[in-house]
Amino acid sequence: MISFDSIRIDSITSLYKFHTIVDVLRLDLAHPVISGNKWFKLQGYFDEALALGKKTILTFGGAYSNHIVATAAAAKQLNLYSIGIIRGEQPKSLSQTLINAQEYEMELFYISREAYSRKEIPELVFEKFPSKEIYIINEGGYGVNGLKGFEQLYKDHHFSKYTHILVAVGTGTTLAGLTAVAQDHQQIMGISVLKNNFSLQQEIEQLLPPGKHNRFTLLHDYHFGGYAKVKGELFHFMNDFYSTTFIPTDFVYTGKLFFAVFDLLKKDYFPAGSSLLIIHSGGLQGNHSLRNGTLIF
Ligand SMILES: *Cc1c(COP(=O)(O)O)cnc(C)c1O
Repeated sequence: MISFDSIRIDSITSLYKFHTIVDVLRLDLAHPVISGNKWFKLQGYFDEALALGKKTILTFGGAYSNHIVATAAAAKQLNLYSIGIIRGEQPKSLSQTLINAQEYEMELFYISREAYSRKEIPELVFEKFPSKEIYIINEGGYGVNGLKGFEQLYKDHHFSKYTHILVAVGTGTTLAGLTAVAQDHQQIMGISVLKNNFSLQQEIEQLLPPGKHNRFTLLHDYHFGGYAKVKGELFHFMNDFYSTTFIPTDFVYTGKLFFAVFDLLKKDYFPAGSSLLIIHSGGLQGNHSLRNGTLIF
């Protein structure tokens, strides 16, 4: 079992005098560096790796990947070796993300973008680590095992009392994990942070049993130009949101999520009597790449 700090639910309903109940699940409190949702996504993979007696975890990601750091941290906690296959040439100065991964003793291998697109594992890896001891996790933790950790989370925090659960979406594995356990009165809504990623619908359906395919909704209008793209309006919103709630957000995922929810509330999207749970999935370490002074927190 991967362990983490305590998480909780905050209500922001009265701060904004919303007519709808709006609660926030603070997975960002789980760890200062590791995105909250990543622990839960990795749980099923690490359980399987341990059950199979594997000693080394290998996964893929870019220089700013929250998934890479989370995998490194979880492996270290469970006394497993970890390997990160990183997209592109080794940069002259490492990103904070990769520095953190190395601090968790992840061994990094850089491959060309072309080799990365084929998810090629360099020969050098197998010279150092016997291939039969390696357990491979997909880029971003996408896959059916990624759903398993969300079942306990759902139960522990009584998600069943909400009509809508909202989450930022990259690979959609977190959204699928929540959809798989959601009940009939609930709608799971995903805010895609990639531009025009319309294959997402099908990628998520592939992770779900057939009866669950119509239980989630994806919104594609809140990406602000694409993955990790921003506009002044987003920073402005994130700063305002922080001044009112003292909840920090990141500019890649959760800033866009909260912006979207506020926009939907303004447009009366949710029927009367709705109660919303917004999943704050963390990702705050990514804000280190912003210029000083951009954010007030
Ligand atoms: C990875 C990540 C997500 C997206 O999770 P998926 O399961 O890939 O959709 C959302 N928020 C944060 C902060 C993340 O790091």
